[in-house]
Amino acid sequence: MTSDQTFVIAGASLAGAKAAETLREEGFEGRVVLVGAERERPYERPPLSKEYLRGEAGREKVYVHGEDFYADQRIELRSGRTAVGLDTTADELVLDDGERLGYDRLLLATGAEPRRIEVPGAELDGVVYLRTVEDSDALRERLDRGGTAVVVGAGWIGAEVAASARQKGLDVTVVDPLSVPLERVLGAELGAVYGDIHRDHGVRMLMGTGVEAFEGDGAVERVRTSDGQVLECDFVVVGIGVQPRIELATAGGLAVGDGILVDERLQTSAPGVFAAGDVANAPHPFYGERIRVEHWHNALEQGPAAARSMLGGTTVYDRLPYFFSDQYDVGMEYSGYAGKWDRVVFRGDPASREFIAFWLAGDRVLAGMNVNVWDVTDPIQRLIRERVAVDDRRLADPGVPLEQLAASGIGDHVA
Ligand SMILES: Cc1cc2nc3c(=O)[nH]c(=O)nc-3n(C[C@H](O)[C@H](O)[C@H](O)COP(=O)(O)OP(=O)(O)OC[C@H]3O[C@@H](n4cnc5c(N)ncnc54)[C@H](O)[C@@H]3O)c2cc1C
Repeated sequence: MTSDQTFVIAGASLAGAKAAETLREEGFEGRVVLVGAERERPYERPPLSKEYLRGEAGREKVYVHGEDFYADQRIELRSGRTAVGLDTTADELVLDDGERLGYDRLLLATGAEPRRIEVPGAELDGVVYLRTVEDSDALRERLDRGGTAVVVGAGWIGAEVAASARQKGLDVTVVDPLSVPLERVLGAELGAVYGDIHRDHGVRMLMGTGVEAFEGDGAVERVRTSDGQVLECDFVVVGIGVQPRIELATAGGLAVGDGILVDERLQTSAPGVFAAGDVANAPHPFYGERIRVEHWHNALEQGPAAARSMLGGTTVYDRLPYFFSDQYDVGMEYSGYAGKWDRVVFRGDPASREFIAFWLAGDRVLAGMNVNVWDVTDPIQRLIRERVAVDDRRLADPGVPLEQLAASGIGDHVA
């Protein structure tokens, strides 16, 4: 394999770091440069709202690779360097110190950043966001001080932060304009299950209301909700979603939409330039539509897939979306993607917090979520991928092994 080429990766987090690793694993002998705006070497974010935030796991647990990995693999890790420009005519990435880094192939793994709330008082001290390990460190200090927290947004980050804050003994109120937590992905029925879990742990769930303003003298002291309530607090965590970091792609004239638009091999509209992870918006061959996935597993798998495409591979990226979440003693895994569904079938009683939920359209399973039930991801994914026609009764019956359903359904397979 050619050794005089330079492959550059912008964004040194999970997708970028796994891509660099894969380039070496696949035998690429040329120069690999991994440029990352953060000072830390690549790390994983899931612990930042869970065990790392609560102080139950140390910094060493979050890194993607050991300290010597990058030097050992001859990967030039440029931490604390931001790419500020992209010239796809000259094939150069421009760094914040003015260096123009020529590339033969480029991967954009610039991820996503928290969406900012735009209400009066949003700039007050104590209105915080959670994306980086420094954010998590700062939030942990607040949790250690105790007191009262308001969490704005009942999505995954908000729900996990609320759980961690309760586990640390704080008074926690969650505010969200939707009627149940996690409603956008899980829908009303499963969202209600999560609402109950939080209420049972003592979280005050103010659903169906938004934030009108944050108020305080320099630092936030209270939240005024759109239905007129006033919530006194010591700090506020805002988790209202993320937006893909597309600035570089835009600067380089690449096609963008909700993220950087790539093809099924993760190549952008500029030949030789690829994108992976939270920032990439790719056509999914199984679902027949474009999807941008903001989850750990997608970064873990798309980084390596993009690396193989950079090396000339022609494999289409078609993994089913998968993610996990831990809140209190409730762990879950979700496989698939359900934009619209006509019903949810439960295997097990949701009130027992040990069950599987399936989202169906017609007699097909679109997505499945196992809650405190483990080692069932493979059969769930097979039910989805093989488009097995299922019978609701058998799907709901814990006596019928999922493997059996996945192997046969009640009849036809439409591959
Ligand atoms: C607190 C938290 C908890 C989470 N928990 C879960 C979970 O339980 N389960 C799950 O499935 N997912 C979880 N996620 C989501 C998961 O972490 C993300 O999907 C994953 O981090 C995406 O990886 P990425 O490499 O695509 O992008 P990112 O992790 O966003 O990294 C992008 C990197 O690129 C850098 N960068 C951006 N622009 C530039 C530039 N111009 N120049 C140089 N560098 C640049 C950024 O600084 C950043 O380091 C969580 C996320 C957070 C924040």
